[in-house]
Amino acid sequence: MFRLGKVTCELCLSRVSRRQARRGQDAQRACVCGACYAQWENAGRKCVECNTPVRGMQDVGIFVARKGLGHSDCGGARLLYA
Ligand SMILES: [Zn+2]
Ligand SMILES: [Zn+2]
Repeated sequence: MFRLGKVTCELCLSRVSRRQARRGQDAQRACVCGACYAQWENAGRKCVECNTPVRGMQDVGIFVARKGLGHSDCGGARLLYA
């Protein structure tokens, strides 16, 4: 059941293949799909926590409780490619 190579996007709850997702590097291992990530990038990479953009050198994090993305420094789980 868990070995299908699919993960659930934490933001839109769709099932996507692992290769299209990025995964948070914490115990929860929450994922975000490529579509949600691209949408967030197009919207200006704004952090859900502090409302300022995540710049190139800063780590992107996923905030499961807030269903959004932002700075890992603001408390998000750092995202890496799954
Ligand atoms: Zn998604
Ligand atoms: Zn922030």
